Amino acid sequence: MSPPSTPHPRPTDLANLAREKLGRKKTQRLLDHCKECPDCAEQLLRAVREQPLATGRPALSKWNWISIGVLLVALLAVVGALWWILRSASRPPAIGFELSQDAEQPLPAPGGSTLPPSVIVRGG
Ligand SMILES: [Zn+2]
Repeated sequence: MSPPSTPHPRPTDLANLAREKLGRKKTQRLLDHCKECPDCAEQLLRAVREQPLATGRPALSKWNWISIGVLLVALLAVVGALWWILRSASRPPAIGFELSQDAEQPLPAPGGSTLPPSVIVRGG
């Protein structure tokens, strides 16, 4: 491998580059050097890794956890409601519901021996 064409940047420059505090030109020059110089690339990577998370992506704050908890509770409530609806739907219908349905739509009795409820009411 050919030696890097540019002089090694100072460690402070690499640290500033990791903090994205350098100008675009200088950043480009340092990055070009790091492409040719694994040693400086290593230093730059180390400097980036040593950056506190606050400058980059923020860690999950207290409010993030609270909103996640609220989301979970809402999800559980929806699942519970669905479970309750499915459970009550699979049960046999209540007696009152069954009677009112029969009165509106009388089924023909097998054999024809019993009259529909509506006829009984009218005849009585
Ligand atoms: Zn170098």
